[in-house]
Amino acid sequence: MSRILFSGMVLLTMANLMQAADVVVPDVVLGIHGGIGVDKKEMTPELEKEVRAGLKSALEAGHAKLKAGGTSLDAVEAAIRIMEDLPAFNAGKGAVFTNAGTNELDASIMEGKSKKAGAMAGVMTVKNPISGARAVMEKSKHVLLIGPGADAFAKKQGLEIVDPSYFATEPRRKAIEEIWKREAEARKQSSTEPGPALPRKKSEYGTVGAVSLDADGNLAAGTSTGGMTNKMAGRVGDSPIIGAGTYADNEAGAISCTGHGEFFIRYAVSHEIVAQMKYRGLSAADAADDVINRQLKNAGGEGAAIVLDRSGRFTAAYNSEGLYRACITRDGKISVRVYEN
Ligand code: ASP
Repeated sequence: MSRILFSGMVLLTMANLMQAADVVVPDVVLGIHGGIGVDKKEMTPELEKEVRAGLKSALEAGHAKLKAGGTSLDAVEAAIRIMEDLPAFNAGKGAVFTNAGTNELDASIMEGKSKKAGAMAGVMTVKNPISGARAVMEKSKHVLLIGPGADAFAKKQGLEIVDPSYFATEPRRKAIEEIWKREAEARKQSSTEPGPALPRKKSEYGTVGAVSLDADGNLAAGTSTGGMTNKMAGRVGDSPIIGAGTYADNEAGAISCTGHGEFFIRYAVSHEIVAQMKYRGLSAADAADDVINRQLKNAGGEGAAIVLDRSGRFTAAYNSEGLYRACITRDGKISVRVYEN
């Protein structure tokens, strides 16, 4: 009897281990992601080098803030600002295009102690939308500002404002033009309006995010994106939605997501991960695995989440081929991963 129980337990443990989505790195103070990335067969050595270097410099910028006595919010904002400025990522400069040929940016940030949060959606002139999101949190009575009102608020707060053309890059323009060509061909072959084509290649996705734990034990999370290529002008994804793309709760963890935003909103992914940790007592790895690799996968929603728990254990779950992700420990040890677990 006890042997049956024992082998049953071994089997259970093995099943749990096989389910664990990613390695868990202890003692982490800052973890980041750069989106679910491109399919392995599309990846070039140049792009991989660029992405890895970008992740590393984002980590270093965030870690420098923490070392100087900054908060987890400071680290999240600093790391995301670096990735927003790099065209390799779909956030800030290098954001994807909408179906109207515009770049519309979304971002959010949240603090785990106070549960204060701020977000901006559909902005077109704010150079670093993550700083816009933080300004909404700290300088307004609101959580989410959108469109021209959000752009005007950022300007009033003294944030850097750019011409909308600043965000456009050639590779992103080529990507949208290819989609428009596909749509035109589909229209020719069909008597009914086929509707906007959704991204087919991973390179048409991508978002950046960060999670951090500071010396006071306070967690923070943030996410910034250009959204999905060929999204309808005016469409808002999960990234600026607190509880969908971003969440932080000092009782559980900090989460930032990337992927097909509509699914992340419908499944309230980041909050669902926190809820599973708080109310089911699951580890960060098991909670993220349940939501990303079971719930979302069964629904057909592609994407990923990074999680940092309140003890500084960092992990990720992704149902895509890979996830650009990286973390740095308290003593500065960096780990960067793309396809490998
Ligand atoms: N989640 C983002 C959105 O739907 C896109 C992405 O993560 O790549 O807007």
